[in-house]
Amino acid sequence: MKGASLKAYLQDPFLAGLFGEIKAAGNMKSSLLDLTHKCNLRCVGCYFFVEGMDRHKKISSRREFEAFVEAEKARGTNMLTVVGGEPALELDRLRLLAKHFKLTVVTNGSLPVPRDGLENIRVAVSFGGRVARYVLRGQDKRDVFSEALSNFKGDDRVGFYYTTVAGCTDGIESATDRMIQNGNYVAYNFYADLAKQGGKYNHRLGFADAIDKINRMIEKYPRQVVSSPYINSTIAKRNLFGVPWGYNVCPSVTFDHPANQERMREGKKYPTQFRAYNADLRTTRRCCVGSARDCETCTDLWATYGWVIGSMKEHLRSKQDFTNWLLTTYIFYMQTGFIDGSKNLYKLPDIYRRFRIETETNTAPSENRTLALDVGDACHAS
Ligand code: SF4
Ligand code: SF4
Repeated sequence: MKGASLKAYLQDPFLAGLFGEIKAAGNMKSSLLDLTHKCNLRCVGCYFFVEGMDRHKKISSRREFEAFVEAEKARGTNMLTVVGGEPALELDRLRLLAKHFKLTVVTNGSLPVPRDGLENIRVAVSFGGRVARYVLRGQDKRDVFSEALSNFKGDDRVGFYYTTVAGCTDGIESATDRMIQNGNYVAYNFYADLAKQGGKYNHRLGFADAIDKINRMIEKYPRQVVSSPYINSTIAKRNLFGVPWGYNVCPSVTFDHPANQERMREGKKYPTQFRAYNADLRTTRRCCVGSARDCETCTDLWATYGWVIGSMKEHLRSKQDFTNWLLTTYIFYMQTGFIDGSKNLYKLPDIYRRFRIETETNTAPSENRTLALDVGDACHAS
């Protein structure tokens, strides 16, 4: 029955084309690692230092690092997300990883990442809104945003992942304008108030306002903003077809970490590949964002992508559900380099036109509305 539905949905040539590209790109087998325990910044609320993950020191021996690369290849890993600490402090090790894996390097943007030996990686500059820019990241002393724009001007490997703050969304448009004018693509994250600053930083305010503004940016820049409205809505709702977001469904957990054994035993869906490595590359942690994070505060973008992408069967109940799943998967494949973004960004306006999303905010659960994006060329030209 479900197979028949899929076949029927793929009678649509546009969907069939995208689906074929995803199949040709192959399955992702991903892991995540901290390349170093060091960072050149100290952002308020950074989970890495809040949880003391810098106690796992970077392995010093090149030989040990090479052995790790070989072991990870032998496990079948084909994609690595490299975080830290600040991975741009370790360019030689990045070059070695880039030879063997699809690589996404998550950086604060304050240090250059040269092209030499790193031509084909994806660089995700993780960045905050106006308040986060000066208070959280630069400690009111540095304009790290401007530094990042300067370091990556016109660099087509680079996406700025702009972290929206629930109660402070005024800067989204002006920051997006700057990132687009800088020649980079733009995606969005959602800030969780781990440092318990409260007020406008409180993610429990909900992200309805941020999402409205993101949708306006998609209408304005449909070939440069690479952000699934379906993922954004899922993060805000914390729910997929009545199943709540959280530990029991999260795919970004280390499959063989002792802390996850009960979940493994209970047979809940999980990838048997994913590991989140600490900087010593010998130990792992419970999940991509640490060992102690309360899942109730988790707004992790890529973990949510993993949840949705791993839930294809649940999305076969209607053509529109399948469409939302397929478009979201395609966008993630572009973001991670499994599908060549530079050759396929032109498809984004057609992709955005096909999203239809029942949105429901976590602050106003009774409010439902349908989102249908209008991303005509006139909008793009504005
Ligand atoms: S740049 Fe990243 S790793 Fe460094 S302190 Fe800030 S959030 Fe943490
Ligand atoms: S904190 Fe987030 S990424 Fe980690 S297990 Fe919980 S839901 Fe998953």
